[in-house]
Amino acid sequence: MSERTLAIIKPDAVKKHAIGDIIARYEKTGLKPVALRMMQFSKSTAEGFYAVHKARPFFDSLCTFMVSGPVVVLVLQGDNAIKKNRELMGATDPAKAEAGTIRKAHGTNIEFNAVHGSDSPETAKFEIGYFFPEMDLVK
Ligand code: ADP
Ligand code: MG
Repeated sequence: MSERTLAIIKPDAVKKHAIGDIIARYEKTGLKPVALRMMQFSKSTAEGFYAVHKARPFFDSLCTFMVSGPVVVLVLQGDNAIKKNRELMGATDPAKAEAGTIRKAHGTNIEFNAVHGSDSPETAKFEIGYFFPEMDLVK
């Protein structure tokens, strides 16, 4: 079933000049970009996006990281896009990520881990709507 997921190329990966490599990995995996935006998060943008993690000990540090430089936000579409992207990303901790995954290639540690990907249809809907109005998605 074709579905959409939200991906973010995080500030660490943008600083490493890995935007092109990461987008190439999406495309090779059948995850087609249907919206794409480069931006710099404000603190409130980061806090609102990660509101589900508000109670976690790493929340403040995560938000500080996410505003530390520009990011690329994309909507990816394809069969089983949510699961496919999570597999392509690898484990949250790059040290535990499988060979061939984005986090294995570009992540530094459990916080600076190169990419975000929605983890369910509900979060994908919220996260896509957080950055893109429906009319900005390519049909
Ligand atoms: P994922 O991005 O794999 O879905 P989570 O949703 O659990 O992982 O966490 C969101 C983000 O918070 C992670 O991608 C990572 O940047 C950061 N993070 C997660 N766990 C930790 C941790 N224990 N310490 C520091 N940062 C963390
Ligand atoms: Mg998550």
